[in-house]
Amino acid sequence: MRVSPALQQLLQAAARTADAHGVRVYAVGGFVRDLLLGVRDEDLDLTVEGDGVAFARQLAAETGSICKGPSAFGTAVVITHDGHKIDVATARRETYKHPAALPTVEPGTIRDDLSRRDFSINTLAFALNGPEAFRLIDEHGGSRDLTEGVIRVLHNRSFRDDPTRMFRAIRLEQRFGFVLHRHTLRLLGRAVDKGWLELLSGARLWRELRFMLVGESPVACLKRLEELGILSRIDADLGLSPDRLALLTRVAEARAELAETHPDVLGQAWPVYLAGLFHGLDVNVLRRAGARLALAPRTIQELVDGLSAVEGAGRRLCTTDNRRPSEVVAALRALPLEMLPLLLARCPGREVHQDVERYLTTWRYIRPDLTGDDLKRLGVPQGPQIGRLLARVLAAKLDGEASDREAEEALVRSALVQIPGS
Ligand code: ATP
Ligand code: MG
Repeated sequence: MRVSPALQQLLQAAARTADAHGVRVYAVGGFVRDLLLGVRDEDLDLTVEGDGVAFARQLAAETGSICKGPSAFGTAVVITHDGHKIDVATARRETYKHPAALPTVEPGTIRDDLSRRDFSINTLAFALNGPEAFRLIDEHGGSRDLTEGVIRVLHNRSFRDDPTRMFRAIRLEQRFGFVLHRHTLRLLGRAVDKGWLELLSGARLWRELRFMLVGESPVACLKRLEELGILSRIDADLGLSPDRLALLTRVAEARAELAETHPDVLGQAWPVYLAGLFHGLDVNVLRRAGARLALAPRTIQELVDGLSAVEGAGRRLCTTDNRRPSEVVAALRALPLEMLPLLLARCPGREVHQDVERYLTTWRYIRPDLTGDDLKRLGVPQGPQIGRLLARVLAAKLDGEASDREAEEALVRSALVQIPGS
């Protein structure tokens, strides 16, 4: 096991704090899993047999860090001055009053705490102090599953107790290239069939889906959600046909390319993937599924508008040949930039790609030399005509028909002659 010197010091500080206050502290969960996998993880998950929040405050005081919390679940976060994040929890026993309910919690031992976890690979722990210090605690076959690359729940009711684990299972599977253990897969299928997902609140469902969409492999996760019958449980009309899968794959490719060439336009990942998931479907499906996911009405409206902007731009760009720069700009200006990957996925041809590239590099920055005040000076009356004429001047400049200020003025004068006083 290798940890950075800074992390080593933190582990030692946590052990000293625990000794000084007579509690036992353990490194657990994702931190231990990633350590054994050799994946670099600078965040620490600690569980305390005793008062976790008090321990977190003491650790923060002794290391000159900030302590945040407690959260609604009685956990605290310590943030060190060099940016390490330490999640601290009290070891707990949990019982679920009914499926998908948030659990009833009471203090327990580290072994109680490990038994309530989602998958065997997340149940590994080691004490930082006391006689067991630095000996791996592996009560549920976690290190074997880690070696075999297997995601396995601890008991048959796991997905029923907490259906968000279905999403967590898929995320872990994709992240590490693992597979769901055969029995776990069967339990997951049964949980989907039984409708346990329907018991989750929209907010919890969306939180899980959003994690996937902003993660490293959103398309692979969506594909897995489809294969396991989960997408259609979110909304009956939601699905990943081969065409839609190909579209979303192109969205991911376009995002990867834009990340290299124009990172400023990317924005968050989830809106464009979510829009891609609803592309071509009736807008009511998006509204209904958005409501199921407890998305804010404004967010739903932005997605509806984004999709219609993609359609508008797509119709103008995909179907005409030899577009003038002004036509490209007119088509793209109404499109929120974060939706560009979806437009590129919808119109995968080389020409649209080049148009978008030129738009991003140059055309979007071009403005007429003349201003509204200049137009008024030339005799254009105050009112909507100023905007219309400025747009014509811009189009002429983009298309190379007005190369300097004089040419722009000439264009305005001739427009005024053609439509005097209008
Ligand atoms: P990541 O690297 O994404 O943070 P992680 O495994 O640390 O991975 P967290 O969401 O930070 O994931 O959770 C920390 C630990 O809490 C997990 O390793 C797991 O043991 C436990 N855990 C989290 N969510 C659940 C859940 N829904 N049910 C049971 N245990 C959970
Ligand atoms: Mg974590």
